[in-house]
Amino acid sequence: MKKVEHFICEVCNTEYKNEEMALKCEKSHKHPQSVMTAKCRPVTACDNGYPDAVTVLFDDGKCVRYKR
Ligand SMILES: [Zn+2]
Repeated sequence: MKKVEHFICEVCNTEYKNEEMALKCEKSHKHPQSVMTAKCRPVTACDNGYPDAVTVLFDDGKCVRYKR
């Protein structure tokens, strides 16, 4: 019988056969720190109140804009 060992990234839960790749995956993830800005529309144009776009500050200091 063979013992099978595998590793799972604790951020995205992807499974890897080797530890190096799992560590590389974990270290590659950027973590949101705060929402810098949100583009909103008035209630006459958006009845659910959620912004159309937000800009998120990540732990590496970069900002990324997300749009729905
Ligand atoms: Zn991952």
